[in-house]
Amino acid sequence: MNSAILSIEPEAPAMANVSNDPRWQAVLTRDGASDGKFVFAVSSTGVYCRPSCPSRRPRRENVSFFVHPGEAERAGFRECLRCRPKVLAGNPRQQLVKAICRYIEQHLDEPLTLAKLSAEFRQSAFHLQRTFKAVLGITPKQYADSCRMRGFRQKLKAGHSVTRAMHDAGYSSTSRLYSRTASELGMEPAKYRRGAIAAPIRYLLADSPLGRMLVAATEKGICSIQFADCDEELEQALRQEFPFAVRRRDDGDLAHFVQNVISRMRGSEPAESLPLDIRATAFQRRVWTYLQSLGIGETKSYSEVAKAIRHPSAARAVARACATNPVAIVIPCHRVVRSDGDSGGYRWGIRRKEKLLQMESAK
Ligand SMILES: [Zn+2]
Repeated sequence: MNSAILSIEPEAPAMANVSNDPRWQAVLTRDGASDGKFVFAVSSTGVYCRPSCPSRRPRRENVSFFVHPGEAERAGFRECLRCRPKVLAGNPRQQLVKAICRYIEQHLDEPLTLAKLSAEFRQSAFHLQRTFKAVLGITPKQYADSCRMRGFRQKLKAGHSVTRAMHDAGYSSTSRLYSRTASELGMEPAKYRRGAIAAPIRYLLADSPLGRMLVAATEKGICSIQFADCDEELEQALRQEFPFAVRRRDDGDLAHFVQNVISRMRGSEPAESLPLDIRATAFQRRVWTYLQSLGIGETKSYSEVAKAIRHPSAARAVARACATNPVAIVIPCHRVVRSDGDSGGYRWGIRRKEKLLQMESAK
């Protein structure tokens, strides 16, 4: 016991200039940045505190300093229940941040504010946020968001509905989720879920007049027709579109689909209609169905399509529907051009669109 007391920081109540001790200044100013560097013990109460403790300041002559909470306890002091200095023991910043993380994880279903964390951990909001960011590189709010997003992804993968997964993951409002998920998931939640639980997918890579082509199908029908300059690019795009589906390369079975698509590209009337297995919003479906009614070599402007599907002011949405067409050629979005005669955009590049239109008009 005596040897323990000997390890206490030398404290000399009789010292003349005690109030000049920077540690005492830190206590007087409740300096959060000094938390973890030392604790101060108060002989009149028998309690030790961290410098930022909100409790009333003791008289200077009753105060002694210790580097670690353990030393204060060996000297007979109790931990203050208000500022809980032991939470900051060890590597103080990391301990604090760890504790904040655990707290956030357990309160994901509540709105998280810095003020709340600041009250819970008895740190100024500024100091708490700065410490958190210094250790983890993100703010507490970003950490909470990433926890929610992780939970949300897991629910979707497990096949829960978007609404249910959203609720379970602690999202309070749909709009908030949708505003975040486009960037986080890389796609809309509903689409992500489809990718998550999609049926097994077979695909074939082949040469075409427009470069390398991928045709992918579920057992119900074609789910993707894409073009790119190389196979890696095509396979990566398929992986992004259907991240959790079992994807299997299949050079035999899909060959007749490929022949059908290539003869369409050369401007021949298709010998047979191809089964599709694609998801669409009601609007996309209207646009895509209309496009399938266009003849070879026939083109329409975006606003003409909008009028034809009785949404005359929706030319921009028509352009979006074309840009998100999952099956090139079979849904002939290349036949939609700008009203000034310019060929407009194309999901697989403007050169490919122009070449397609040339091949069709040559017929
Ligand atoms: Zn305290």
